[in-house]
Amino acid sequence: MRERPRPGVWLPVSRRAVLAAAAAGCVLGTTPVTPPAHAEVSAGGDEARTRTPAERRRADPGSVSSVSTTHPLVALTFDDGPDPDHTPEVLTILRRYAVPATFFVVGANAAAHPELLARIRAEGHAVANHTQNHRWLDELTQAEVRAELTLGGRHVDGPAVGLYRPPRGWTSPLVARAGRDLGLRPIFWSDCVEAHFDIGARGAGLRVGYFAEPGSIILMHDGGSVVGPNAQRIDRSRSVAALPHLIEKLQKRSLTPVTVPQLLSVSRTAQ
Ligand SMILES: [Zn+2]
Repeated sequence: MRERPRPGVWLPVSRRAVLAAAAAGCVLGTTPVTPPAHAEVSAGGDEARTRTPAERRRADPGSVSSVSTTHPLVALTFDDGPDPDHTPEVLTILRRYAVPATFFVVGANAAAHPELLARIRAEGHAVANHTQNHRWLDELTQAEVRAELTLGGRHVDGPAVGLYRPPRGWTSPLVARAGRDLGLRPIFWSDCVEAHFDIGARGAGLRVGYFAEPGSIILMHDGGSVVGPNAQRIDRSRSVAALPHLIEKLQKRSLTPVTVPQLLSVSRTAQ
């Protein structure tokens, strides 16, 4: 029996409005210590970028933002790590609740912190490809996209080896083709924890847990530091603080977190 709606600070005005905002790239609520370079620049103009599941599907019909399933399962996904400042805490929380997750790692970060990558694997989580250098794929040539995905893929193995996530969720028909040619499947998200930080870390965790449905793919970040052309340093301690509230809300609603490969395996259709 799922929990019924009841008043609380984390309750939004409208589910639709909040999810629409959360889908918009998951940059709301983040406070970069160093703003990402080129944040406002894009080859096709920023308005041309894919910010919603529908836009991502238009650019790439194979894109997955959630799956259709009757099983009460959801997937927690963590981007941009591994990161010595936050990944260990995230792993400790996941272990405390015995919850598996999927880590979309940046290849450069994985190379810099092999011990963290090893711990992620050893604790039963899935590791997937978030490119080598966190470049905006929709600005790159076909050869550059291939290089980002191929190099990033060297750090990935196991059941999620064929899954990638374009940084910021920005894709294009060209990116889609490059991924397809490499046999990779693009995984996006249906909601993002950091997009709800206007109501605090606890509120964000509770709200995302409350909104989750069977088949939801939830994005959050364990990585705060990225080097390279889109260098950024973001304090992810609020993401860490939100995580226990999110997990407890999901558990209260009888929604069980699994890895993305496990979620895909029970999907009727991915969308
Ligand atoms: Zn990212």
